[in-house]
Amino acid sequence: MLIVFIGPPGVGKGTQCRRLLAHLNVPHLSTGELLREAIRGNTEIGRQSSVYMDQGKLVPDSFVLTLVREKLERPEFERGCLFDGFPRSLVQARALDQLLDERGTPIDVVLELIADEDVLIDRMHKRAVQENRADDNPKTIAHRMEVFRQQTAPLRDYYRTQGKHVNIHALGTPDEVFERVRTAVDARRSPQA
Ligand code: AMP
Repeated sequence: MLIVFIGPPGVGKGTQCRRLLAHLNVPHLSTGELLREAIRGNTEIGRQSSVYMDQGKLVPDSFVLTLVREKLERPEFERGCLFDGFPRSLVQARALDQLLDERGTPIDVVLELIADEDVLIDRMHKRAVQENRADDNPKTIAHRMEVFRQQTAPLRDYYRTQGKHVNIHALGTPDEVFERVRTAVDARRSPQA
């Protein structure tokens, strides 16, 4: 099964992805994690990406697509995966569709976690203090929110046109939110998946 998980910063996507991975037997593909791995490995993509990431900007599509393509070639990704934080722009969404067309494995469902922006900003400020993340200072948080609104939110209509987009309300306990996620996914799951 192929699932795309999107949502604004601070919405609790990481927690819900972990739960969904435990529920489904598919690998995880988080572009944020792949980029952080590239930075740790001091690769060319990593070196160039860190500047964008520290400013809360999207890294160039070509970097992300290179990392995704490499990952999808691995045998464990044949049965599908959970895309986390990817695609994040229309260019990426179209490139992903093309890539998946070539494999003959289309996306099954696109889950978008939604919540009020003020609540999210407040949550991220608290997390910034607790975790001391470089991309969580107030200026960067505001910028990441803006980037989401401008570049990622248009994916809604893109996937709505394909009949794949599902809104998931992200307020409530992690258990309550996961119940909504699980229901949406199970409704799209074929009996053998
Ligand atoms: P995340 O861990 O998903 O919040 O991603 C952390 C940062 O990595 C983002 O703020 C972006 O700078 C970068 N990033 C992650 N995924 C993508 C993507 N699909 N396209 C562009 N930049 C990305």
